[in-house]
Amino acid sequence: MYDYLYEAAKRLIGFDTVSSNSAVPAMEYLAKELASRGFKTALQPVELLGVSQANLVAWAGPPRSDGLIVSAHVDTVPYAGQPGWEREPLKFEAAGDRIYGRGASDMKGFIANCLDAVRTLDTSKLKRPLVFVFTASEEVGCLGAHEVAPALRQILGECPVPKLAWIGEPSSYEVYRAHKSIVSFGVTVRGIGGHSGAPARGVNAIAVMGRVIEAIGRLQEARRISPDPEFQSIFPDAPTDVVNFGTVKGGLALNMIAEECALRVSYRTLPNADPLQLYREVEQRIAELDTTDYASHEHRATVELGRTMVVPPLNSPPGTPLERVLFDLTGAKTSGGALYGTDGGWFTSSGIVSLICGPGDLDQAHQPNEYIRREPFERGTAMVHKVIERMCNSE
Ligand SMILES: [Zn+2]
Repeated sequence: MYDYLYEAAKRLIGFDTVSSNSAVPAMEYLAKELASRGFKTALQPVELLGVSQANLVAWAGPPRSDGLIVSAHVDTVPYAGQPGWEREPLKFEAAGDRIYGRGASDMKGFIANCLDAVRTLDTSKLKRPLVFVFTASEEVGCLGAHEVAPALRQILGECPVPKLAWIGEPSSYEVYRAHKSIVSFGVTVRGIGGHSGAPARGVNAIAVMGRVIEAIGRLQEARRISPDPEFQSIFPDAPTDVVNFGTVKGGLALNMIAEECALRVSYRTLPNADPLQLYREVEQRIAELDTTDYASHEHRATVELGRTMVVPPLNSPPGTPLERVLFDLTGAKTSGGALYGTDGGWFTSSGIVSLICGPGDLDQAHQPNEYIRREPFERGTAMVHKVIERMCNSE
């Protein structure tokens, strides 16, 4: 009964779609499968982080404005160098109640469900448009969605862009309608090098970076102590903007004044906020910073803020028809906030209201020996089928 589903998952996991590789072969496979089921398909070629990638759009149904987008990303996080792997990451392996392979939960299992569900769909009888959007480079900042979301109008031609999207990210079938924006940037401090025995002749970049970190940390602290009651139930863990110091690198040797220090920071802001507001506050604090080090007030370091990379937030209104259908099919009664960012941010920027709900488990995403549980995976096909029936085929 699940032969095709398992075969599709096996094929998808077999494509090495780590974001730094091209997802084009996997996209071509998906395009071929969907074309054989009566979908029009278009590959959107895009160059992302120096790699030739493609997004896939596949659509069927009459040109009406009340259709549905079903979306997933095809890329995965890396596995090479990740400790803990005891299985071959690209090998689909069913064992007990689990199906192993990189991307099984995040989110190739769901894509296999989509392929399986449309096998029994008569696309010529659809009453409203059904549009699949499969994206590249989601795991490195939703770069594929950034390209394809604003291009949908042109790609779909006479078929209006649906205003609702269902993204099957791993949620254990919880329904999420919000996530925070993600902003990342680098800070580089350049000091003046020299012998550590004469610190006053130079400026230590690591010492000045300490001041930078303190300044950003104070902003984080100010956010933490004033949570937003509106988001208390949606983000119970942190109803505030949150900041993370990701990496810091500086200095060459113990007996040298560190000439350079580089920091990478990311933060997530509440979905109703301007994602760049906190960045502007960081800029201002850094402009006011004392950039001398503790050894001397003679010399100053320079502090350079790098360009920002932004994944916009998701803040979909409750009560949409898609939400009702997902509630009915999953038994969920409320829609909350996801801890991760998704392509839905860019869909929102193009006027498409997105909801997140998928068969994978978040605690499996990005893990070694990633798996999806067999039961929710097998149930996923019927789930996709029913959502399509309710959203695109009912009166
Ligand atoms: Zn994902």
